[in-house]
Amino acid sequence: MSANPLDDLTARTLGLADGFGRADLERAQGARLRAVFLWAQARSRFYRRRLAGCAAPAGVGDLAALPFTAAADLAADPLALVCVPQGEIDRVVTLETSGTSGNPKRLFFTAADQESTLAYFRSGLSQMVAATDRVQVLLPQGRPGGLGDLLDRALRSIGLRARFAEAMPDDASFRRAPPDLVIGAPVQVLELARRTGGCAGGVRAVLLCADRVPEGVAERLAAAWGCEVFEDWGMTEMGYGGGVDCRAHDGRHLQEGDFLFEIVDPASGRAVPDGEFGEVAFTTLSRRGMPLIRYRTGDISRILPGRCGCGSPLRRLDRIAMRIGDRVGCCGGVTLGEIDDALFGLAGVADVRAGFCAGTPGRLRLEVVAPGAAAGIEADLLAALDRVAPLRAARADGGLAVELVVTGDPPGPVGGKRRLRVEAPG
Ligand SMILES: [Zn+2]
Repeated sequence: MSANPLDDLTARTLGLADGFGRADLERAQGARLRAVFLWAQARSRFYRRRLAGCAAPAGVGDLAALPFTAAADLAADPLALVCVPQGEIDRVVTLETSGTSGNPKRLFFTAADQESTLAYFRSGLSQMVAATDRVQVLLPQGRPGGLGDLLDRALRSIGLRARFAEAMPDDASFRRAPPDLVIGAPVQVLELARRTGGCAGGVRAVLLCADRVPEGVAERLAAAWGCEVFEDWGMTEMGYGGGVDCRAHDGRHLQEGDFLFEIVDPASGRAVPDGEFGEVAFTTLSRRGMPLIRYRTGDISRILPGRCGCGSPLRRLDRIAMRIGDRVGCCGGVTLGEIDDALFGLAGVADVRAGFCAGTPGRLRLEVVAPGAAAGIEADLLAALDRVAPLRAARADGGLAVELVVTGDPPGPVGGKRRLRVEAPG
């Protein structure tokens, strides 16, 4: 057994000995990469064309010679990427795209593909819960094969029955018997913590599942419940499981048994060194139904240099700095993530919406959901917003007017989409 259970999973997945190092891992990944290339090229119409003229990679060093796969490819003709007969497909996911093509992305998973996600969930959860723990999931249980269902199956397989909530749990019963572990999206977990914080002998750990967790959220949850906070990163395209932090809480250890991760310059597509920010791309190493080769995620982050304190050889992904396309449109491209990071650290902030109208001056409208916030929070919010340097500069020279609306309504429903979005100018 390693200090990090994800090491054990990776060793089992890739057939490595305990105590494996980076060289062992990359050798095994290289063999898988070659197998995925040959599988996809032989069985998918899309990859037969896309990989035409490419030599089969001999190792991970040959990855950069392969073409990327884009989100648009999953929308244009998703069935062309499928590698197995329809009868072997166990789950189909349709994802709306934010682009203008109008076509949703579609993803296809076999039962075995979903088993790898389950194994990853089991591994990550094993460092957060014990067999007798109570678990509250702030997500609907949802459809078979969805995030809620996979979490439930992973928890059951380690002997735990979780409570899933379609609505926010009742405060009194939550306080009477607080769960040991709470799983959910940052906005909903923050709201629950605001309403029930301070209950003695309560929540011991939180697992945040989100595209991106704003700065300050983990600290606020730790302060409210006195708990340990884990962050999971993943996306539907990878079947959810990308990486999760260990108990050292110093970045998300990547699930390198099932995926080969790269950080590339978004403009040139060239790999950037560890420590530098770029777009995350991944290649599936075990997916049978719809393997993806060098899929560009649109998430901007970096690999944290050096080894984690837990001793794991698995690389760690820093927080997602932003999503490509998440620019608000003012001050040379301030991102929603930067506004999030500035405001979510403030006690009372439950959710944020942003909209920008170009003009002279430009007008940035911020709707902040802050139920139960102290009077005068507006001044604190504006002061916090000044942490975003381009906004501070634009406000100082009169080029930007900030319109702040603070509402006391509770945030959106459990399992609902984040409400943060760019509003159309007008
Ligand atoms: Zn670690």
